[in-house]
Amino acid sequence: MRTKIVAGNWKMNTTLEQGLSLVKELIAKENEIPACVQMVVVPPFTHLYSVYQLLKDYRIALGAQNCAAQAKGAYTGEVAAEMLASVWCQYVIIGHSERREYYGEDSPILCQKITQALHSGLIPVFCVGERLEEREAGNHFEVIAQQVKETVLLLNPVDFSKMVIAYEPVWAIGTGKTASSAQAQEVHAFIRQTLAEVFGALAAQTTILYGGSCKPSNAAELFAQDDIDGGLIGGASLQAEDFLAIAKAF
Ligand code: PEP
Repeated sequence: MRTKIVAGNWKMNTTLEQGLSLVKELIAKENEIPACVQMVVVPPFTHLYSVYQLLKDYRIALGAQNCAAQAKGAYTGEVAAEMLASVWCQYVIIGHSERREYYGEDSPILCQKITQALHSGLIPVFCVGERLEEREAGNHFEVIAQQVKETVLLLNPVDFSKMVIAYEPVWAIGTGKTASSAQAQEVHAFIRQTLAEVFGALAAQTTILYGGSCKPSNAAELFAQDDIDGGLIGGASLQAEDFLAIAKAF
């Protein structure tokens, strides 16, 4: 049985007060979250410790949106994986397309981040996905295979077994355009097959999330696909009601 995860990436949204009230709304309805689903909230760094204080008696987990490629030192503005673990983060998103696109994060940097995260006991949620022009040119499988080969496939099996992968077609993020359930399933199966070529049966245990305009109206159909084990949710995770509805779509 693979872990089912619904993770809410708040990105650079909410003041501390707004973030805490969102978490309080989720906690109030925690009993509605299916037992098989691990809900994860992923607020901005500034909110992490305060959010943890609210979450600590509940079964909603905490994640961070990024971590530094280095362990510590003179890296102004960066936040180390060990610091995230010290405020009780369990997950960290690595390689989100916005980090790749706006901050030039490439595979060598992402490998360092994965190493730091694993070293600190965090579960990396590693994002892959093609741009619109790559999909239109029919190159999406190649692009995704390359992203996986340069990073996840370099891990040893023990480290690999701790990874969560998120397939996030860039053209579907924040655009309102969702990959159809068939398009998403096709890529998820391809990712799992690519992982299996190196890690064999372990790949059947890997949680692979879908991200890209996932919302209450399409979550059930996406999550019903064989290789889709949950969602990485952006916009819809900022409304407690929508985020809970997505978690209940399993
Ligand atoms: C994301 O940024 O990871 C994401 C999936 O965003 P949205 O749900 O808003 O498309």
